[in-house]
Amino acid sequence: MSSQASKSFKAGDIIIKQGDNGHCAYIIEEGRVEIFLEIDGNNNQTHHVGTRGPGAIIGEMAILDHAPRTATIRALEECKLLEITREDFARRLQNADPVLKLAMQVILTRYRDILARADLPKAHTLQNAPPPQKAEDLEKSFTADVSAIEAIRIASDFETALKNNEVTLHYQPIIHLKNSKTVGVEALMRWHHPARGFISPAVFIPILEDTGLIVKASQWALKESLKALKNIQPYGNGDTPLFMSINFSSHDFASDGFTDTLYEALSQTDIQAQCVHLEITERLLIGQPETARDILNSCRKAGMSVSIDDFGTGYSSLSYLHYFPVDTIKIDRSFVMSMNGDPNALELVKSIIALGKNLKMSTIAEGVETAEEAAILKDLGCDMMQGYYFSKPLPENDIIAFLRDGN
Ligand code: C2E
Ligand code: CA
Ligand code: CA
Repeated sequence: MSSQASKSFKAGDIIIKQGDNGHCAYIIEEGRVEIFLEIDGNNNQTHHVGTRGPGAIIGEMAILDHAPRTATIRALEECKLLEITREDFARRLQNADPVLKLAMQVILTRYRDILARADLPKAHTLQNAPPPQKAEDLEKSFTADVSAIEAIRIASDFETALKNNEVTLHYQPIIHLKNSKTVGVEALMRWHHPARGFISPAVFIPILEDTGLIVKASQWALKESLKALKNIQPYGNGDTPLFMSINFSSHDFASDGFTDTLYEALSQTDIQAQCVHLEITERLLIGQPETARDILNSCRKAGMSVSIDDFGTGYSSLSYLHYFPVDTIKIDRSFVMSMNGDPNALELVKSIIALGKNLKMSTIAEGVETAEEAAILKDLGCDMMQGYYFSKPLPENDIIAFLRDGN
């Protein structure tokens, strides 16, 4: 703060003029100011909005949006104000804690919403004030706020959750069709919140991705799942040691030390690199795909495998196969579940399996729930399957029991 400029104003000075373009906000260090609307567009007829004193922030709209000032602010006495420019604000936001960043994003969006609804700057006179909000609009913005607040809460609770062992991993078996044996497991995160109960990964993972907290979560999952694999592997009954499939997000590949953490976890647990499958989704192509590709290439050189998750659901699925070094295609559950009644879905599954064969990649069908689905996939030549038909994701002890009792 101290590196920034303080400005002094005398009583009666206009600090911010309604209708002007603003480039900064101010934090009041000393003195009091009055905020008022100029009803006829000049100083003759005014509407008092309020007064502000030390610690308050004024003119903040300008750093959120380049919209003209919506009110005039006048010094009521000698004032000292700290100037916050848009650039300064943007820089601070860049370096902010992830939760803070998310909160700011929410606030920004909300402000923009309000601005859009108020149709500024026309509304700088009271006669032109925006019509009152309709009930359904209020309802809509309320719902948006609630989910935004929910997201902030989830993000801020997550780090504590990791420390308090509220977060665990479950493991879902992946079955090979040639011998119906379990060849590997996929690690899936579970969160039992002490107050809110079970929170689905479909809810909290996207929030962790938005806030960057996913990096911490992935590193934890990586270490935890490889430790578990060490315990699970002795119960494998296939020809090769069981593999662990771990989900990663684009943030993970952008973070420093991704490969260090990976190799460290491998050497600490004494797991062979061949037993690690990295699952990635299309979000990787957004951001820094080159970095992700380099990292995946080096992981593959070390012996690990790369799987494309949810294949066919993104707009860029095919370019993935071209861009990234891929060993396995995971056919999305949505195709598998409609395969039985929808000829198009069946054709799609057929094509993906054929594509895999042509490109010398193996295929895993996700979300297999019935014997019929399993039979169709076997007929089509799909290599592996995963789904409730075989088993739900299970805690470490239960997956060991599942393997011990011969699936
Ligand atoms: P995903 O990677 O596609 O994982 C498969 C999801 O399908 C899992 O949901 C699994 O429980 C569910 N599933 C498996 N078989 C069946 C079935 O037969 N029927 C149905 N209806 N569902 C089935 P889950 O565990 O709720 O995870 C949801 C998503 O959250 C995952 O989708 C993945 O994208 C993400 N996720 C979970 N754990 C992690 C993690 O550790 N790291 C990252 N980055 N993402 C994770
Ligand atoms: Ca997955
Ligand atoms: Ca998937």
